[in-house]
Amino acid sequence: MTLTEKDSQYLWHPYTQHKTAQTPIAISKGEGALLWDENGKEYIDAIASWWVNPFGHSNRFIADAIYKQLTTLEHVLFGGFTHEPAIKVAEKLIEILPKNQQKIFFSDNGSTAVEVAIKVALQFFFNKNEKRTTIIAFENAFHGDTFAAMAASGISFYTQAFQGMFIDVVRIPVPVKGQEQESYDALKDVIQKYNCAGFIFEPLVQGAAGMVMYEPEALAKLMQICKEHNVLTIADEVMTGFGKTGKTFAMDYVTEVPDMICLSKALTGGTIPMAITTFTQEVFDAFYDDDINKALFHGHTFTANPTGCAAALASIDLLHTEEMQANIERIHKSHLDFQKKIEKHSKVITARTLGVIFAVEIKSESEESYYGSMRTKLYNFFIDKGVVLRPVGNIVYILPPYVMSDEQLQKVYKTIEDAIEMV
Ligand SMILES: *Cc1c(COP(=O)(O)O)cnc(C)c1O
Repeated sequence: MTLTEKDSQYLWHPYTQHKTAQTPIAISKGEGALLWDENGKEYIDAIASWWVNPFGHSNRFIADAIYKQLTTLEHVLFGGFTHEPAIKVAEKLIEILPKNQQKIFFSDNGSTAVEVAIKVALQFFFNKNEKRTTIIAFENAFHGDTFAAMAASGISFYTQAFQGMFIDVVRIPVPVKGQEQESYDALKDVIQKYNCAGFIFEPLVQGAAGMVMYEPEALAKLMQICKEHNVLTIADEVMTGFGKTGKTFAMDYVTEVPDMICLSKALTGGTIPMAITTFTQEVFDAFYDDDINKALFHGHTFTANPTGCAAALASIDLLHTEEMQANIERIHKSHLDFQKKIEKHSKVITARTLGVIFAVEIKSESEESYYGSMRTKLYNFFIDKGVVLRPVGNIVYILPPYVMSDEQLQKVYKTIEDAIEMV
């Protein structure tokens, strides 16, 4: 049996209707921005394997750090124990995060980082005997697939089977250009009507919605409104963190500081699943008490896994090298040139760039659904040409590993141009 035949016998893939899905491609090797399948066909990974892999596949620097840690201390329980890798990650993050972030809580993936933040927002008020049980989130947000994260997410076909079983979430419009006032007014309105504990948002870019972008000034304004009403703010930087927007964190563009930040994806350079939720001292202090019932009763078996921490430390070191910063700048400039060229095309509605993130919306005859026919046609075209891109409806986005060469990037652009001609 081939790998793909065995796969279809044994495996259940994410976001996949197995009856109608094409067989998956079996990848056997990765290096830098490239992947190779079992038949030796080469692909450019133009989306950094779901946005996790900024430093390239099979990165030696991170691999060496992991090996060293694996042969020193691979894991120790974090209940009642601690270790240097976790402390170093905390020190490092506190140094580079917005200045008010003081406490680090480890978990395993983006959804759990969000789950922890939402539970903390709710218990923060419970611990203070204040009744606040509603979470505010943006329309079309994506915060993950566990229950509270799913409740906060607004992409409805992901969550429709579970309607009526969620924590209370109210939604406000995203303050995209021209819609800012509507968003501010909606926020004030929901804060008036509901007992709001927290506001969770993807800062500046809504990834899964199709790289929808909005301005830092608008986010600052929304955060100010929250602050005036003592609503906790949660920046979900799971996608935007670690250089994607051109700064280390998207929040580095914003004049306001959040109460909590969620991190995962690029945290370990795409090597080991790990996530972190960070907090202000004030949030932590609401749980700090002689009463054990005020503690945060949340944890995972692999919390602060030392190997994951070693990978995170190596990744953060890599991010801050001159070479990697120059790569980010180079890709950003290149995207801007491509945007200028492509946005004039008659089949293009709009194009946008922030940091290494680029997105183009293609005109379509019919209303394009998330997994609609245009999306499938585009996806297959890209795969055929050896470029990994996953369009969202009629939106094609690029989020390359920072190590992608100019030549590879030009090939990605050219393939997108050809795809636009084709549809
Ligand atoms: C991917 C993502 C998540 C969920 O992360 P997982 O590791 O897939 O659970 C949460 N928030 C945002 C903004 C994301 O992009």
